[in-house]
Amino acid sequence: MKILIVEDEPSLRELMSRTLKAERYVVETASTYVEAEDKLAVYTYDCILLDIMLPDGDGLRLLEQLKKEGKRESVIIISARDSLEDKVLGLELGADDYLPKPFHLMELSARIRSVARRSRGDGNREFVQGNVRLDPAAYRVFVGEQELSLLRKEFDILAYFMQRPGHLVDKSVLAEAVWGDHVDQADNYHFVYAQMKNLRRKLEEAGATIELKAVYGFGYKLVLTDQNA
Ligand code: CA
Repeated sequence: MKILIVEDEPSLRELMSRTLKAERYVVETASTYVEAEDKLAVYTYDCILLDIMLPDGDGLRLLEQLKKEGKRESVIIISARDSLEDKVLGLELGADDYLPKPFHLMELSARIRSVARRSRGDGNREFVQGNVRLDPAAYRVFVGEQELSLLRKEFDILAYFMQRPGHLVDKSVLAEAVWGDHVDQADNYHFVYAQMKNLRRKLEEAGATIELKAVYGFGYKLVLTDQNA
């Protein structure tokens, strides 16, 4: 899951970034309205933590803009202006949640998890495809009854595909979602190929009835290998 932190106060931005990275999120940051606007024009995120009072603009305008463009990012407003008016306006504009400053970092994490659960829609914490079961909260994967041991990025890749069965995923989109922004400036995707190769081998060796099928020149998609499954 990839998060954009829009916050102009450096110490808070750093603290949030460090905390969320430790919780295995892919984290990007923007310190101004314009920087956030630029990033959102190019990259996609699962969740945006949005400060309202930015040096060069109002975070609520950014939220308004996002919703107007039909962007699907979840938005949690973080604001020092703990006014009912801001909260109501923010939620009316389509924010998913509102967190007044100062807040405890554990509270922030809980809100993000809750928003993530809601955006997945089903409230079901596990993803199941074929005989593979992935628990995103516990970072565990099972093939049948057997637990599969995956490295962090392998897990993140599999989680990404388990949420999008049958969808053709461009390798640059995958790289951005799992490794973060700026990988699109990488001159090749060798790191993606290397991790995919290991993950595909592990799935095969464990007898998984799913496969991350390479689509030449484009990317990958998760398909069921067992026609009876
Ligand atoms: Ca601020």
